[in-house]
Amino acid sequence: MSGKGNYVSSWHRAFLIALVVLLALLMIFSRGYRAARRIHIPANETEQKTDTNMIQGHAIPLPDITKDMLLGHIDPANDSGFELIDETYASRSGMYMRSAAYHAFLEMRSAARDDGVSLIILSATRPFNHQRRIWENKWNGLQVLHGNVIATDIPDPMERALEILRFSAMPGTSRHHWGTDIDLNSLQNSYFESGEGKRVYRWLQDHADSFGFCQPYTARGKQREDGYEEEKWHWSYRPIASEFLHAYQEIISYGDIRGFDGDETAKGLKVIDHYVMGIDQACF
Ligand SMILES: [Zn+2]
Repeated sequence: MSGKGNYVSSWHRAFLIALVVLLALLMIFSRGYRAARRIHIPANETEQKTDTNMIQGHAIPLPDITKDMLLGHIDPANDSGFELIDETYASRSGMYMRSAAYHAFLEMRSAARDDGVSLIILSATRPFNHQRRIWENKWNGLQVLHGNVIATDIPDPMERALEILRFSAMPGTSRHHWGTDIDLNSLQNSYFESGEGKRVYRWLQDHADSFGFCQPYTARGKQREDGYEEEKWHWSYRPIASEFLHAYQEIISYGDIRGFDGDETAKGLKVIDHYVMGIDQACF
C-alpha cells in the first residue's frame, strides 16, 4: 500500500509542478504579448523598451496608445490619464499633462527650486482643435509668423506651410497632443541665452534627463538635420513620449493628417519623416 501511495503522490507532485510551470509560462508569454502590442514594436525590442520606461527605479505606467491619442483627438479634462496642472507651476489655469509626466515634472521643479531655479509651464497638452486654431490663424494670415512675415503673402501652399513649420506643428503631428511635452519659462531662445534664462537652461541640460525629460528640438545641424528650429523651451517626458513616437511611426500615415486648412501639403512635405521624426537622438 505504502509503495503505491508513494507512487501516486510523486506522480501527483510531478503533475502539480508541471501545472505550475505551465501557468507561469502562460503568464510570462501573455504579458510579453500585451506589452509588445501596446507599444507597437517587435517583441524582440520589448525588453529594451521596458528599460527606458524605468526612471529612478520606478516603472512608468503606459497608456494603451490609440490612433486618436497620437493625432490629438483627446479630451484631457475628461480623461483619467490626465491631471490638471496646479496654477502655482503654470502661467495660466486649465492646462493638463499625463499624470506620470506631471509627477515627474513636479519632482524636477522641486529639485530646481532647491537650486534656486524656477520652472513655469507656459503650454502643455494641446488637443487637435487647439493646434488647428494655431495653424489656421497663421495659414490664413490672422497671426504674423515672425518679424513681419504673413503667411498669406506666400501664395505657394508648400512654401507657406514650410514657413509656418519653422516653429509650429501641423495639427495631428504635434508632440503637445501626447500630454508628455511642455514649454517652459519663455518661448524665445534669446531668454535662455543670458542671465536668469541661461541659468535655467544650464540647469535643465544638467538635470532634466535624470527626471526623464529631454529636449527634442535642439540646434539644427549635423546632429539634427530635419524638423523645427531650435526650441530651448520645449521639454518632453521621454518614458511615455518615446512610446508615442514608436507607435506614431507604426500606425500613422499621411492620410491620417487631415482636417485643417493646408492639410494637402502634409504628404509632399513629408511632415512625419521630417518633423515628427526630426528630433534629437536623446528623445528617441
Ligand atoms: Zn512646445
